[in-house]
Amino acid sequence: MMPATETYRQRLLKEREALLAEVHKKVQGLSAAERVSDDEQAQRLHEDFVHLRLSLLDAERLRLVNEALDRIEVGDYGLCLNCDQPIPAKRLEAVPWTRYCIKCQDELGSQWQSESEDWLRYWRNLALP
Ligand SMILES: [Zn+2]
Repeated sequence: MMPATETYRQRLLKEREALLAEVHKKVQGLSAAERVSDDEQAQRLHEDFVHLRLSLLDAERLRLVNEALDRIEVGDYGLCLNCDQPIPAKRLEAVPWTRYCIKCQDELGSQWQSESEDWLRYWRNLALP
């Protein structure tokens, strides 16, 4: 295994740990069924919706992270799943769980992924102290 790959592996493992903790926390944070006013109910439903949505994004990220770890195991990590070309180190450093090179990502137009990125950024900003 290349030393760089080991670095990515460590980062992926950390990311996986953080995501698991986050998903767990969010599921626990969902509103308990208690009697509240309609206004509050609506507010809580909205919060639950946001929580669920973020959890889905976390779950999706988790899937990508697990896939990347599998690719490290079988030894084809860092290759684009679409064109088989090596993904530039810069991109892997930014997004170690990426599946495609930038060109293929653009061509495939993965809206889901870019949307996830936006939401993650949004959520991370919220989470800042
Ligand atoms: Zn590609």
